Amino acid sequence: MNATTPRPSGNEALLTAARAVIAGGGSSNMRNLGIQDPLVVDRAMGARVWDVEGNELIDVNMGYGPHLFGYADAEVVEAVSERLHLGAMTGIVHRLDAQAGELIGALMPSMEQVRFANSGTEAITSAIRLARFHTKRTLIVTFEGHYHGWSDTLLRGAITADSTGQHGGTELHAAPGTNPEALWHTVQLPWNDSDALARFFAERGVEVAAVICEPICANAGVVHPLPGYLEQMGELAAANGALLVFDEVITGFRVSRGGAQELLGIRPDISVISKVLGGGFPVAAFGAGREIMGPLARNEAFHGGVYSGNHAAVQAVVSMLGKIQRSPSVYTDLEESCSHLEKKLRDRFAEAGRPVRIARAGSVLSVAVLSGPQTGPEAYDAATDTIDFAAHRRLQRHCQRGGLYFHPNPLEPWFLSSAHSRADMDRIVDVVARGLRAG
Ligand code: PMP
Repeated sequence: MNATTPRPSGNEALLTAARAVIAGGGSSNMRNLGIQDPLVVDRAMGARVWDVEGNELIDVNMGYGPHLFGYADAEVVEAVSERLHLGAMTGIVHRLDAQAGELIGALMPSMEQVRFANSGTEAITSAIRLARFHTKRTLIVTFEGHYHGWSDTLLRGAITADSTGQHGGTELHAAPGTNPEALWHTVQLPWNDSDALARFFAERGVEVAAVICEPICANAGVVHPLPGYLEQMGELAAANGALLVFDEVITGFRVSRGGAQELLGIRPDISVISKVLGGGFPVAAFGAGREIMGPLARNEAFHGGVYSGNHAAVQAVVSMLGKIQRSPSVYTDLEESCSHLEKKLRDRFAEAGRPVRIARAGSVLSVAVLSGPQTGPEAYDAATDTIDFAAHRRLQRHCQRGGLYFHPNPLEPWFLSSAHSRADMDRIVDVVARGLRAG
C-alpha cells in the first residue's frame, strides 16, 4: 500500500491488514482469538468501547482489569498528559518516585519498599529472583489455574497452546519455545487442597524458595481460597524458611483498597501489583519489607529496565492511588452494583434453564456457561471441568452483536468499574438474556 491508496476501513478489512504485518493481528496471544466476529477498536471511554465501524459496546473485559474508574478517566489522563510535556522518562530518579512508593506503602503496608517494572510478568520475575536470593533455594510452588505471566519459569504449556482456554490445562509442561529446564524447579499443586499442600511441604518444604499464588484466583474464573487455606500456606512457608508471594496483579486495589491481603487479613512476604495500579498505563511493582528488598537496595541482586518506573507510569500511579485514597466509597458502591448484577444474571440463566458458574470477588465477576451442574466451586477442576466452551462462545458472539463485549474465554473474568452505571448493569443483563434466548 502506498500513501495514495485509501486505507481499508471496517473491522474485517482492518483486522486483515493488521494480520498481514502483526503476527496473528494483535500483540498478545489473548487478543488473537480467531473465533469470533472481528472487533477492531477505535476508542474507549468510561464503560464503553467503539469499534472502527462506529458500533458502541458496553465493555466488561475492560482491558483485563486496570480501569477501576472506567476508560480514559479524566483526572488520570490530564495528569499523565501534563507529565508527557515535562518529559516522560529521563532514566534518572524523579521527584514523584517517593510519592508513588509512599502511596503504595500506605495502601499496602506489607510493601515497605518497592521497585517499579513495566508488566506483571517482569515484576513477578523479579519477585521470584528476590525470593531465590533471600532463601538461597530455587524451588517455586504454584497452583493450578493461577496465571503469573509468560516467563519460562512460570508459563504452563497448555495456556499458550490455546488462548481460548479450552484446554485450560493443569499439566506442568513447558510451553513451546521455552527452556524446559526453567520449569524443572517449578511445582504446581491443586488449589484449595490443604492436604496436598501439607504433604508437599512435609516432603520438600526445605527446598522451597517461594510459594506464589493469586490470593483470590481470578485466572480460572474467580475461585476464592477456602477459609484457612492461605493462613496454612503462610504458616507452612514460614515454618520451612520459604517466602509467601502474593500475585495481586488483578486483586490489588481492586477487591479492596489494600487488595486481597487487606480483605483476607494475610500479610505476604512479597507482593506484586499492576493493572489498577496504573489505571491502563503500563506499570507494575513488586515490593516487600526492607530486609527482603535489601539485596536490591544494596545492588546485590539485579533488577533493571530502561522504562521501569518511567515518569509517565509513575504519574499514573500517583494519580490512580491518589484518586483511590480520595474515593472511600468506590469499593462499597461497586460491591453493591456488582452484587445486583450477579443476582440478575443468575436469575436470567435460571429462567433460561441454562447451567452457569458465576463467581465474584467485588467487581471481578466470572461467568461461564456450563454443560451440566457444577461439581463444586472450590478447586480448579470443579470450576472448569463442566464449562461448555462452545456454548459460551456462542453466547459471547450474540452479546457482542447486541452491544456487550466480554472475552470469549470463559475463564477470563469480567471487570466492572465505577463508570458502569446501574442502567449499564441492566443493559448487560438484557443483552445476556437475549443472547440466552438466541441459543
Ligand atoms: N498475574 C496475574 C494474576 C495476571 O492476571 C496477569 C495478566 N493477566 C499477569 C500476572 C501478567 O501480567 P502482564 O500481562 O502485565 O505481564
